[in-house]
Amino acid sequence: MKDPIIEQTDGVVAATYSRLPVVFERGRGTMLWDTAGRRYIDFLAGIAVCGLGHAHPALQEALATQAGRLVHVCNLYYTIPQAELAAWLVAHSFADRVFFCNSGAEANEAAIKLARKVAHDRGENGRFRIIAMAQSFHGRTMGSLSATGQDKIKKGFYPVLEGFTFVPFDDIAALRAAIDDTVCAVMLEPIQGEGGVVCPSAGYLEAVRQVCDETGALMILDEIQTGMGRTGKLFAHEHSGITPDVMTLAKALGNGLPIGAMLARESAARAFDAGAHATTFGGTPLITAGALAVVRTLEADGLVDQAAATGAYFREQLAALKARHPVIEAVRGQGLLLGLKLACEGGPIVDQCLARGFVINCIQGDVLRFAPPLIITAQEIDALIECLDEIFGTEAPRS
Ligand SMILES: *Cc1c(COP(=O)(O)O)cnc(C)c1O
Repeated sequence: MKDPIIEQTDGVVAATYSRLPVVFERGRGTMLWDTAGRRYIDFLAGIAVCGLGHAHPALQEALATQAGRLVHVCNLYYTIPQAELAAWLVAHSFADRVFFCNSGAEANEAAIKLARKVAHDRGENGRFRIIAMAQSFHGRTMGSLSATGQDKIKKGFYPVLEGFTFVPFDDIAALRAAIDDTVCAVMLEPIQGEGGVVCPSAGYLEAVRQVCDETGALMILDEIQTGMGRTGKLFAHEHSGITPDVMTLAKALGNGLPIGAMLARESAARAFDAGAHATTFGGTPLITAGALAVVRTLEADGLVDQAAATGAYFREQLAALKARHPVIEAVRGQGLLLGLKLACEGGPIVDQCLARGFVINCIQGDVLRFAPPLIITAQEIDALIECLDEIFGTEAPRS
């Protein structure tokens, strides 16, 4: 008999996701429970979202307090949590200003619009093109979709926005060949998340920075998946020596609350003057109060350093797993954004992990992705590795 909630969902919710057959009811820390009372260890964290884990008391408390005080007034007025969250982000990054919105796609939408507006304000009206990367993912709204370098995601929606050119990721010669004075920005992820947890070579981000400086293009980093401690630094670009001009955040910024942010240096940010861009819910007091509790907890609990240490341990265990199972072709990623490139389909492995009480996911058909809460423990990692050992060892998946 089919679960009534699954049946209801499949009947009335847009069928844009192919879902796994489990109904989650509650969570605590790294754990999730389904409606049958089964417990799971969450190695996905809502796709790199719940960095603090589930049902964190600091977030609960901040939301409850703010909900009883003020939920919304609109951006024609000032509110305390919005100011404090923006100040925290500015104090902890290269940026001078923050534009708040409600999702990753919207943050990238804002970055795309800002890049064009910066060029416009300089009187460079022919400078409107954006160079993005093959296999990138920047979101599903029309602008962020146009910047996404995966045809399978754009199929059915053409024509997309004009002015986007794609070059292979991690190929600085291709970027140099494609860029000219019609390009207002180069947009990329420091690690391609949806593209398969793909890390560029050492020195690549620095080289992109140099090309942008030489040609007058803005460097836009999409840190929506890599930001907020995920890779073992607050922002992934801190592993390199450079800073971008513009950075987009979402996912873990609110630990599950709908919030996006576009951060920029003053030289770029000033192009967003009054009336240039807006969104009703951007930076609303309830959500920014929640996100403020999230970032303060991240800092107070030292979770970024913890993610670096736990991530290094996790990566070692994955490398040892690879040595035991030839079906694993590569270990990818940094910090607690890790992937296993397989020589077989990853979907069945995800299903078997779920049946054994582990939530992971698969991207690009053959890459298992792990993005657990930053509070994941070595014991929980050992348990997952044991589970994967069993699956790879006894069930010998074939391509
Ligand atoms: C998830 C993601 C997005 C889109 O964010 P939404 O909140 O789903 O719109 C954009 N870029 C990257 C790198 C992402 O991982």
